[in-house]
Amino acid sequence: MSNKPARTLSFKCAKCTKPVTLYLQKVSACSHIQPYQGICKCGEVRYHATGDKDAVASFLANPHEGWSHHH
Ligand SMILES: [Zn+2]
Repeated sequence: MSNKPARTLSFKCAKCTKPVTLYLQKVSACSHIQPYQGICKCGEVRYHATGDKDAVASFLANPHEGWSHHH
């Protein structure tokens, strides 16, 4: 068993339902979450994050560039 987050996750695209591979992002700005990002072949960007519940919620509410950590 390991506490390290998975390097990749798979989700279905919200638009075309094809599987999308999300890759763990290296984000040094926040240690509370492990953000994942993947782009479907149809162009839809899929975000996901694991970790601190509130930080994940704020990340997913605005996962784009400029997101910063608020506590
Ligand atoms: Zn898609």
